[in-house]
Amino acid sequence: MFSYLPLFLKGEVVKGFGRGSKDLGCPTANYAREVTQSLPDNLKPGVYYGWAQVDQQDVHKMVVNIGWCPFYQNKEMSVETHIMHQFENDFYGSMLKICIAGYLRPEMNFNSLDELITAIKQDINNASNELDLPDSIMLKNNNFFTCD
Ligand code: ADP
Ligand code: MG
Repeated sequence: MFSYLPLFLKGEVVKGFGRGSKDLGCPTANYAREVTQSLPDNLKPGVYYGWAQVDQQDVHKMVVNIGWCPFYQNKEMSVETHIMHQFENDFYGSMLKICIAGYLRPEMNFNSLDELITAIKQDINNASNELDLPDSIMLKNNNFFTCD
């Protein structure tokens, strides 16, 4: 079912939809359409975990939400990556490489902002635990992150 994993993506960070992810304490770096249009057809929407690298900097843990994008009449997907690292500055226009290692949960609607925030914290926790496992660490060291 997840035969397309691990999935390696690379592209420029663009402005998102201004959904206020940052206000929730969880900024998400968005990809341009060139990247989202190249996703496998059978990709299951939901929350995934993996590794992320901005430009040629260090590789960090991440959680990524892949969902149908209402902005494009749900014909295209959005890929929004939250990197588990405190950055000094925004990095719009930078090159973002991600390796999607595994699947956490399907997309869902939440009844309140509190529930959403709780779920995000849980996702970050679960992702972090999965990424401590040897199979995940092998992907962190993949030469995808060292080559151009
Ligand atoms: P937008 O709607 O433009 O995506 P967000 O509120 O989701 O706005 O913020 C995303 C931006 O925040 C990213 O494009 C990036 O420049 C910046 N950013 C800062 N720290 C992080 C982080 N840890 N993970 C992801 N993006 C971050
Ligand atoms: Mg965003």
